[in-house]
Amino acid sequence: MPSSNPTPDVLIIGAGPAGLSMACALADEGIRSCVLEASPLSHLAEPAEDGREIALTHRGMGILQTLGQWQDLPAAEIAPLRQAHVFNGQGEALNQGFLGFDASGSGRDALGYLVANHWLRRIAYQGALRRSEMISIRADARVSGISLQPQNATLQLASGETLSAPLLIAADSRFSAARRWAGIGAEMRDFGRSVIVCRVRHSLPNQATALECFHYGHTLAILPLNGQCSSVVLTLPADQANTMLAWDEAQFCRWVGEQLHGRLGDLSLAGPRHFYPLVATYAHRFAGQRLALVGDAAVGMHPVTAHGYNFGLYGVELLAGILGQAHKAGADLGASAGLQAYAQSHRRQTWAIYQGTNTVVRLFTDERPAAKLLRRGVLQAAQHLPPLKAFITAQLTGRQPPLLRQLQQLRAMNPLRRA
Ligand SMILES: Cc1cc2nc3c(=O)[nH]c(=O)nc-3n(C[C@H](O)[C@H](O)[C@H](O)COP(=O)(O)OP(=O)(O)OC[C@H]3O[C@@H](n4cnc5c(N)ncnc54)[C@H](O)[C@@H]3O)c2cc1C
Repeated sequence: MPSSNPTPDVLIIGAGPAGLSMACALADEGIRSCVLEASPLSHLAEPAEDGREIALTHRGMGILQTLGQWQDLPAAEIAPLRQAHVFNGQGEALNQGFLGFDASGSGRDALGYLVANHWLRRIAYQGALRRSEMISIRADARVSGISLQPQNATLQLASGETLSAPLLIAADSRFSAARRWAGIGAEMRDFGRSVIVCRVRHSLPNQATALECFHYGHTLAILPLNGQCSSVVLTLPADQANTMLAWDEAQFCRWVGEQLHGRLGDLSLAGPRHFYPLVATYAHRFAGQRLALVGDAAVGMHPVTAHGYNFGLYGVELLAGILGQAHKAGADLGASAGLQAYAQSHRRQTWAIYQGTNTVVRLFTDERPAAKLLRRGVLQAAQHLPPLKAFITAQLTGRQPPLLRQLQQLRAMNPLRRA
């Protein structure tokens, strides 16, 4: 168990993957932290399977490598995502009319990698354990209030104990209470839909290809895992989700198989079905007086574009870099300039994708005839617009498309370019 650290530089609320990774990144910058978590320690050490398979971009994976967490993953728990096919409408044959993305040609062997969320939680905790000189974790410690003063930040635990530090970081989920206590509002978009996630075994190979089927009335995504296994991600109106959860295994698998036109052969459940309501959130500000928001507390994404934890890691990398510089200079970690720099940069790297994701969700869940026509047109246009596809692939792989690379090279050679 991590040792208790009486004088942390930073207090972190929430030992989810973002809060623990934040603590690891700060430790590597020489900054001590104390992480407060409402759940018991056993939930951190042995996180339960929760049905979520997290698609990580190359940048997200790189950050986990730098933190030394990636190396703790067994190879069998990392599933490469080599291709992704997007389908539209009901009954469309699954071998035609799709928008496709392919890692080949991007200079990478995969578009990204799928790792189960409980494994990401586990490696984040192990990373914190390895840095126990710098990180203390207090489980069973629910934060019940915060006070942000010009000189320091204080939090109160439900037990009545108070703790103070120069900086407070809130990583307490998309429904962050700390965000609200700090007077920071958030855009919240309740899609009125729920997602059912589970693992299935199948008799035909998935060829490391994700299928995103925007059917009318529901969206079905198949995420390829290792060993003739895939993750089913089914998004549908909340009332229908309840009905489907009550179906037995045979009925559920038969229905999924029919939606896939037999593409994966016979299906059987390889784990329990889990259920999540779909609400996206975006904080109005990512920082306040002696406070920064990270992970879902800053940006809680709809999972369709698979960016939630990736954004969490990008924020961790950014904030740790800024605080590391302040620490080396002997400056105040809670000083406003650094926190504002973090807030602005993190907004720049998340805002467009957050809005774009919500637009895609709105369009592809709109059942009116005009919207159906529009979504078909959008997919066809995207399929025939190589620069757009290259741009999306580059978002995942972190490699710029050749055209953009050439433009940047030309720009670098331009003597009139401002330094
Ligand atoms: C179905 C689904 C699929 C997803 N797929 C992807 C994907 O493909 N790619 C991707 O990048 N992301 C994906 N995500 C998003 C990803 O799971 C989240 O972004 C990530 O788990 C958020 O981590 P976090 O640490 O910010 O928050 P959480 O995991 O919510 O952790 C918050 C922690 O704070 C603690 N806490 C809360 N309040 C308090 C308090 N008052 N006191 C003390 N502790 C407190 C909680 O107990 C919890 O442990 C998906 C999400 C879902 C639901």
